[in-house]
Amino acid sequence: MSDLTARFRKLWDEIAPIGRDAGSGGYLRYALTEPELLLRGWFRDQAEQRGMPIIEDGNGNLFAWWGDPDAGDAVLTGSHFDSVPHGGAYDGPLGIVSAFLAVDELRESGVTPARPLAVGAFVEEEGARFGVPCLGSRLLTGALPAERAAVLRDADGVSFAEALGHAPAGARPELWGRFRSFVELHVEQGRALADTVAPVAVASAIWPHGRWRFDFRGEGNHAGTTRMADRRDPMLTYAFTVLAANKEARLRGAYATVGRVSVEPNATNAIPSRVTGWLDARAAEPEILTGLVEAVHDKAVERARRDGTAVTLTEESATPLVAFDGGLADRLAALLDAPVLPTGAGHDAGVLAGHLPTAMLFVRNPTGVSHSPAESATDADCAAGVAALARVLAELTC
Ligand SMILES: [Zn+2]
Repeated sequence: MSDLTARFRKLWDEIAPIGRDAGSGGYLRYALTEPELLLRGWFRDQAEQRGMPIIEDGNGNLFAWWGDPDAGDAVLTGSHFDSVPHGGAYDGPLGIVSAFLAVDELRESGVTPARPLAVGAFVEEEGARFGVPCLGSRLLTGALPAERAAVLRDADGVSFAEALGHAPAGARPELWGRFRSFVELHVEQGRALADTVAPVAVASAIWPHGRWRFDFRGEGNHAGTTRMADRRDPMLTYAFTVLAANKEARLRGAYATVGRVSVEPNATNAIPSRVTGWLDARAAEPEILTGLVEAVHDKAVERARRDGTAVTLTEESATPLVAFDGGLADRLAALLDAPVLPTGAGHDAGVLAGHLPTAMLFVRNPTGVSHSPAESATDADCAAGVAALARVLAELTC
């Protein structure tokens, strides 16, 4: 085991038990709940051990500084601690642990950055608690107004402001304006690197993606007395629509998922009166995504006619294509001799990319699985990620 691999394992072991569910082996690290607060405490300790003062932005985001925070022209790296329900260990925390280890690498090799370097931890990236992904970075950059974020509520009715302990500060242009670039290291969320010799890749873009709600309405009735010919069963329309989404996505090389459904009255012996399904769709180009959702909707409407049901489609969120700074991506790919890949997953880096040159590094994930306990990365690949990040930070801060 190399020195760096051993150092990675040692630091990783400090946070590995925090928020892990004994049953699933996955993580329950929702923003500003006890496990995530423990991780934030760990972040403060790591910063303190390295003599890096912390600035909180009033929105729940933390920044630990190497160098003068007021000097400007700083390079930011980091990621998030929060997880989806029963999420994997690496999504988020890998970028923060790697950032601190990269600082150590730079210091050990005698590098003194010519510009300040900050390690960031963004709050509520997954949106698993308050429903809005990248909440912290959206607040910081002003993409989401503070008043709207303050009143977002979790499943127990606790508002974001209550969880934070105060009203969020909202846009802080004088703070993010101090950054000249942002690099987020993240576990790969796919298998593009699995069969290659490359442990690390550079991101080119985040695919446009969104969430759409399909409401199917029919007629609730008795399962034992309603003749098959007389039924207006929205479950049939729903089921057909799920299959259509899968087919239409495959035809376009896109992704479509229905991972959430609610049924009324949700009784074994009742034909449902209403079924709601949420479609998550992603594609390489905005036109492909629009075409996909339209095709699924058309199929749903056609089927509803046959089933005697009704269907309505509501767009709940849409995130446009994020092209990372091409010059920066090419420069880092050349520096690391790494492949360049797009991703279908959203990140804080996608939000910040609208404001400053931003790049992402992906660390190989042999299972390709993410948002699940099966998410994985070897210690050797994580160490390679740290080494790559250290090289990138040395390059960007010189
Ligand atoms: Zn993430």
